[in-house]
Amino acid sequence: MSRLPTIFFGHGSPIIALKQNETTRSWKALADSMERPRAILCISAHWLTHGVSVTAQDHPPTIHDFGGFPREMHEFEYPAPGDPELVARVQQLLGPTTVVPSGDWGFDHGCWTVLMKAWPEADIPVVQLSLDVTKSPTEHYALGQLLRPLRDENVLIMGTGNIVHNLRVLQRVDGAPPNPLAMQFSTAIKRAIAENDAQTVIEFAKLGDMARLAVPTADHFWPLLYVLGARHPDDHVTFEPDFIEYGSIDMTTVTLRGDLAA
Ligand code: ZN
Repeated sequence: MSRLPTIFFGHGSPIIALKQNETTRSWKALADSMERPRAILCISAHWLTHGVSVTAQDHPPTIHDFGGFPREMHEFEYPAPGDPELVARVQQLLGPTTVVPSGDWGFDHGCWTVLMKAWPEADIPVVQLSLDVTKSPTEHYALGQLLRPLRDENVLIMGTGNIVHNLRVLQRVDGAPPNPLAMQFSTAIKRAIAENDAQTVIEFAKLGDMARLAVPTADHFWPLLYVLGARHPDDHVTFEPDFIEYGSIDMTTVTLRGDLAA
């Protein structure tokens, strides 16, 4: 028996699609270090809904949910198939929460800019799960707990967002120093994860000024709660890569992997 890791990817600017750098190489190395998933359930910061939805198409479209980037960014396709069987399994696991099959979404850039680097062949079925904006952090975490059995069914549960995501104080220069509050928040959250203290992460807002700076809106933070919900007691934690880009975008990727990992 093997159990897949669960991973929270820190995704950056969509422009990473056109780059090969340390971050993209680390995503690929991470993918190469694990058993090939049968399917991937992706929880992206960029699909916000009222109620919970899943992509239900046989071939979900690639969504170019950004503006102001070169034309080739808008032409990129990630042609992974959908997975109706996984949709049904997610509905079963999350019941009694209603999970609405959607034909209105596809793979957004939070999902495909990571997937194209980690699994460039695009031959593993992918289903996206939306973030219900009416749910509390506790409720997002609880949904992640319900999804945990998927790890033993060869399905990768991946979140994609950022521990720190503040576009208002962003400095668009390479090598910009991390905002001090952003750094403090990132350190506090990583410490809590390392100590298996989920409650501190769920109650991130209690961290005060640093939380207000790091998480002005919770959309990029919520996917982390699903990954932590899917944690097993024997999982080890790694943070790789682990850095803050443009002063206030935390590119840290959190991997939880147990002794049963293949
Ligand atoms: Zn994003």
